[in-house]
Amino acid sequence: MSILRSARRLMRNMDKFREECGVVAIYAHPEAEKLTYLGLHGLQHRGQESAGIVTSDGMGLHAHKAMGLVADIFTEEVLTKLRGTLAIGHTRYSTAGDSALLNAQPIMVQSNKGQVALAHNGNLVNALEIRSRLESQGSIFQTNSDTEVIVHLIALSKEHTLPEAMADALRRVEGAFSLVMISSDRIFAARDPRGFRPLAMGRIPAQSGEKRETIVFASETCAFDLIGATYERDVKPGELVVVGSEGVLSHFYSPAGPQSSCIFEHVYFSRPDSLVFGRSVDMSRDALGRQLARESPAQADIVVPVPDSGVSAAMGFAAESGIPFRFGLIRNHYVGRTFIEPSQSVRDFGVKLKLNPVRSVLEGKRVVLIDDSIVRGTTSRKIVRMIRGAGAREVHMRISCPPTVSPCFYGVDTPSKKQLIAANKSVAEIRDYIGADSLAYLSLEGLKEACGDGEKTTYCSACYTGKYPTDRVDVEEIQPVITRR
Ligand code: AMP
Repeated sequence: MSILRSARRLMRNMDKFREECGVVAIYAHPEAEKLTYLGLHGLQHRGQESAGIVTSDGMGLHAHKAMGLVADIFTEEVLTKLRGTLAIGHTRYSTAGDSALLNAQPIMVQSNKGQVALAHNGNLVNALEIRSRLESQGSIFQTNSDTEVIVHLIALSKEHTLPEAMADALRRVEGAFSLVMISSDRIFAARDPRGFRPLAMGRIPAQSGEKRETIVFASETCAFDLIGATYERDVKPGELVVVGSEGVLSHFYSPAGPQSSCIFEHVYFSRPDSLVFGRSVDMSRDALGRQLARESPAQADIVVPVPDSGVSAAMGFAAESGIPFRFGLIRNHYVGRTFIEPSQSVRDFGVKLKLNPVRSVLEGKRVVLIDDSIVRGTTSRKIVRMIRGAGAREVHMRISCPPTVSPCFYGVDTPSKKQLIAANKSVAEIRDYIGADSLAYLSLEGLKEACGDGEKTTYCSACYTGKYPTDRVDVEEIQPVITRR
């Protein structure tokens, strides 16, 4: 079978190929497992399907992975069994399904260089090709995850040391990867040469009685705040940081490429209290809202965010336009996984579980409704209907990024082009579909300027342009099975 044909077969068998994740790593702390748990808790928004922690006590690695939320998985009892001074953790959002736990990370292997475990945020674009080749040479894969390819490449590398084997493996993969790895006595952290996904490094000062300070890594700096770590810098594109008894060593396994940091991290994905790519997410979102108000003003009485994703941009819009900011929609934060719907089906049941309008705020008002993005358009349509149902006179929808026209192949969960409303309808058609009086998106230039493009990083905006920074993307577009929350 040709590599391409077997890659296609594999692709069809993969229940989910794009996924969103958060990673944490701790070097040298007597309660590394607890700090990792807290760090993952801070990154829960990056993935709610499964989570895992692997620790080292110097003798061997100890792992626990399960489906569910971080706080439910890691009970006191579980953490007691994970005692260690080094740890890595991962939280993941992917599809539901039998194979989901199998694909949970970190992925652990026994290599000829010792036991290692790896946790990865991002998506590789040549994983299928490598996997087909390795399988034809006898490798046996245990998961559907592209991350396992990296683990196999490390195990098979002819290099003699673990850092060299890891560098060798990273030079062979393409696409987006911010990853952390643990061996019995070291922590590794690396980013792909284009710096698609974030990865920050920080330190916790040595406590009294401790000899060493603690080195930490996390997808976002909000994870540092909870564990008392100070942000030091980002892991650089093309860099492999190795932390061990010899200290913190930086290697460049590959020259940095033109940077393509994911702009959607600033638009939606990261928390506003984080620094991402060295820049405050809240600052970007405020600027997005301000820019949107300048580009597409609206005659209205109140600015209402879609919580939580639209809040920071709505504050910016309100400040710039002088229109009062009001919470016209209240979010229920305790929406779990399973819900019993009444047999007499309730219109827009799903969205009503999560959001409820405040009639006293909305009644008789002209509303500017701010959200970060429209993907399929189904959520916006329900929310606009809900706001009108609560008595709003007009609804002017404003979106703090350009129309989403292309799927992401670098680690953000977007549906195929067929399901992206802006890939198939004009802005006027979308306005009619969602039932708004007016609809405007932010311009691409406005987006880039608000996120400081060209200052600390340059951005990938392929989801808005269809121009992908890597030559190759997935072999064929698959239809991911998504349960969007
Ligand atoms: P839709 O109904 O598909 O148009 O969903 C739009 C909503 O999904 C917006 O409120 C966004 O905040 C949210 N959203 C956008 N991208 C993602 C993503 N990758 N994962 C989860 N939610 C998202």
